[in-house]
Amino acid sequence: MKKLFVETYGCQMNVADSEVVASIMNDAGYELTDNAADADVIFVNTCSIRDNAERRVKNRIQEFKSLKKKNPELKVGILGCMAERLKETLLKDQEFVDIVAGPDAYRDLPSMLDKVKDGRRMANVVLSLEETYDDIVPVRLDKNGVSGFISIMRGCDNYCAYCVVPFTRGHERSRNPHTIVDEARDMVAKGYKEVTLLGQNVNSYSWNENGETVNFARLLKMVAAVSPLLRVRFSTSHPKDISDELIMTIASTPNICNSIHLPVQSGSTAVLQRMKRSYTREWYLNRIETIKKHIPGCGLSTDVIAGFCGETEEEHRETVSLMKEVGYDFAFMFMYSERPDTLAARKLVDDVPNEVKNRRLQEIIALQQESSLKSNKRDLGKVFTVLTEGRSKRSATRMSGRTDTNKVVVFESKDIKTGEYVDVRITDCTAATLIGEIV
Ligand code: SAM
Ligand code: SF4
Repeated sequence: MKKLFVETYGCQMNVADSEVVASIMNDAGYELTDNAADADVIFVNTCSIRDNAERRVKNRIQEFKSLKKKNPELKVGILGCMAERLKETLLKDQEFVDIVAGPDAYRDLPSMLDKVKDGRRMANVVLSLEETYDDIVPVRLDKNGVSGFISIMRGCDNYCAYCVVPFTRGHERSRNPHTIVDEARDMVAKGYKEVTLLGQNVNSYSWNENGETVNFARLLKMVAAVSPLLRVRFSTSHPKDISDELIMTIASTPNICNSIHLPVQSGSTAVLQRMKRSYTREWYLNRIETIKKHIPGCGLSTDVIAGFCGETEEEHRETVSLMKEVGYDFAFMFMYSERPDTLAARKLVDDVPNEVKNRRLQEIIALQQESSLKSNKRDLGKVFTVLTEGRSKRSATRMSGRTDTNKVVVFESKDIKTGEYVDVRITDCTAATLIGEIV
């Protein structure tokens, strides 16, 4: 078999897509290698979400250029969001790249490789209204064999003003629920204990065929029914689709994890309107209140953008006050980065100076650190069922795993194996980690 090296940047969707690519390439006679220098083909699955994500990829691929000098037979392909955004210009700018393939073109990769054998170079960036890769059994790329991803929908129709995703991943489409359940069954048979259902807007999942209608709450229940020992998570939800039905489904199904990632982006209704987020501060806080009422102790995390177009100091303070009010366990926080062709790039002015964006970002990062520490301190003395993921990176005598609420727990253990459920009492913590002992 020929050798394929895949490097993945960006979100979990990209990891899931690389697993689909590995499967398609496997069928075409390629096996994976961990060593780029060994490969016949290198694919880089890329991210466009912020300018620095693209810059990182552009720097890294220069290393593949030198590999190509040593081995002229080597083929290099750029896949994913950057491929879709930059299209043929990537071939012009990076003369050592042979293939450019957008997120809906992965079935075409083997035939593209065939065609570029003679030195031609090719791009396929056609976006599809139907492609969900639902018949492809992904080659799992995770290292622990305990937790894996299932992509349940693709694309996004929300067109948030700052976001490039609808342009790089095309229209929203949901995958046949029966193929999703089959994939979950296959994972359980292979020993997996946790599955994360993935989509850019995962809770707007909706499938209708021959009179059968499945929404996201129903799909979660179907996947949870595969095995009581399978933990079910999902990412990323849009606040507009966190329905009462969905909250009640999480509350009433023991193996659907009590953990919700609900990106708020800003605590100011005026900024949310400029962002085209389709909800207000009050509406978001009402959803959080409903979650807290029906799922006590639910893990809550979010995404926040600092310094969006026109953000005033007062609007920034509203984000700070919302974060305080919710008390998130965890947050991904970013400085606003203007992306070409988005509504914000066309219609708004990126007018918050970089040093102000950065100061606001540092402020919310510091606040989140405090909030995470507070949340972890509340867990001292409690007992959690932890799903172990492997040895702790910092200490060979400790195991590391996660609570149902998605917190990382480390504890001393000699004989517990990866993939076991263990009850652990929390004795100490940092802002990032709970430390405990087996009960
Ligand atoms: N679909 C998800 C949602 O609606 O929340 C997340 C999609 S995106 C891959 C992940 C996060 O990147 C977003 O939630 C947002 O906070 C951030 N992001 C997206 N575009 C950005 C931009 N232009 N500048 C800074 N951060 C951005
Ligand atoms: Fe981007 Fe908004 Fe779609 Fe999320 S919902 S992927 S932020 S456009």
